[in-house]
Amino acid sequence: MNTESEIARAARHLLADARAVSKPETAAMPLSRPTAVATGARSPANDAAGRGMAQPQSAADLEGLRAFVRQLRTSDLKLPAALRPLSSVGATLSPAAGMLDIDAVRSDFPILQERVHGKPLAWLDNAATTQKPQAVIDAITHFYAHDNSNIHRGAHTLAARATDAYEHARQTIQQFIGASSPDEIVFVRGCTEGINLLANILAPGLRRGDEIVLTELEHHANIVPWQMVAERTGAVIRVAPLDDRGDVILEAYERLLGPLTRVVSLSHASNSLGTILPVELMTAMAKSRGARVVIDGAQSVSHFPVDVRRIGCDFYVFSGHKIFGPTGIGAVYMTREAQESLPPWQGGGNMIQAVTFAHTTYSGPPAKFEAGTPNIADAIGLGAALDYVTRLGRERIAVYEHELLEYATGKLMAIDGLRLVGTAREKVGVLSFVLPGHDTIEVGRMLDRAGIAVRAGHHCAQPSLRRYGLEATVRPSLAFYNTRAEVDRLAEVVSSLARG
Ligand code: PLP
Repeated sequence: MNTESEIARAARHLLADARAVSKPETAAMPLSRPTAVATGARSPANDAAGRGMAQPQSAADLEGLRAFVRQLRTSDLKLPAALRPLSSVGATLSPAAGMLDIDAVRSDFPILQERVHGKPLAWLDNAATTQKPQAVIDAITHFYAHDNSNIHRGAHTLAARATDAYEHARQTIQQFIGASSPDEIVFVRGCTEGINLLANILAPGLRRGDEIVLTELEHHANIVPWQMVAERTGAVIRVAPLDDRGDVILEAYERLLGPLTRVVSLSHASNSLGTILPVELMTAMAKSRGARVVIDGAQSVSHFPVDVRRIGCDFYVFSGHKIFGPTGIGAVYMTREAQESLPPWQGGGNMIQAVTFAHTTYSGPPAKFEAGTPNIADAIGLGAALDYVTRLGRERIAVYEHELLEYATGKLMAIDGLRLVGTAREKVGVLSFVLPGHDTIEVGRMLDRAGIAVRAGHHCAQPSLRRYGLEATVRPSLAFYNTRAEVDRLAEVVSSLARG
């Protein structure tokens, strides 16, 4: 097996096998019902079946998967096209697909006209939050000026309008990430709340010794909720390590997966190193062990096309404010099977069918997971943001950002002494660096004086930086409205600091 097409064939076969074992009919029992565990001696396979997990594959299949991963590492081949992160799809598009008109795009974002310390604002802090186009600002203003009402309950016109707009936003998200039904989309405050929701509804299915697999590059939002659940349940956290470039070591990840793996939770893209993980492959590997898979999409949805069904995950989570939408809103994709088999998290209005003091019956999904009055206006704003990104074209965005990332990488690497941290094969536009002899905060301040906004610090991903012996980096991060001229300004300030 030493050509790319053979590897691709093997991978497709393995993915098909992995998907077959995770079909609803073989994984119909809810993770949340420990009472369904088969009686008798506790064997990992028995346990997994009893709690709604797919059965592990045969030893021969798993050996095949291992061989495939070994081959990927030793052959120096890139992942087969079928398994490559979707950013690569954008990066190989022909120019015939059309280019972004960056001047026109920039004029859609009023804040980009701001001046900071007398200089034009260069917003290079997009991994922390993104700026909002006028279309998003208008959608929120319009809602409060014309349609404001609580939803789902009133028998009047504004309630109907507000409900329609809110549910339309849910449908926009469904189409944006390729879910099969709007009902698979649950609104939350953001990625952090989404992962907390998932950790809490998966917790009742976890027992002492069960394993939750993460990677070394996770954001604290994808570490701490699992730690809290592990403390409560006795589950154990296992961590897949990174190599020197910032890629996850796939053989090590594969070795961590076992019959006790219940949950695998992975960043689609790292906010500190920029690495894009091969989540489709990693999901297939986890699914072959019967685990539930969560993908943290905080740093991916805004940069390249995402298709949750192609990834094959159970859950996908992202924040509105990182994709040109408002703060305080985000979404969790949950497969229908997961929604039906898992319990609600928060209780209250909207999520019930009937309540007595003796007993409550819950609404069906997604209402079951949306207790209380939601953030209606910002859900509508998020829908407007996704419409905006769709109009620009996600492939076009991926092509543009890929080129800008390559340009910025070259510029920064040329600066004497600068150490770029995170040089993975597939990256989003995150350029973490340190400049020996200069505190990261000091570099951030110098850039601010030049009107350039970047983040300096640990980026809420301390383990990922400690892997490289660092406590903090300076982190410019790119979006489609950034330009080569802004990158030049960044490089100029950092160069002058490096020269001393
Ligand atoms: N996951 C990743 C990879 C992130 O970059 C972030 C935020 O930076 C989060 C999760 C948390 O997102 P939020 O603060 O919007 O909830």
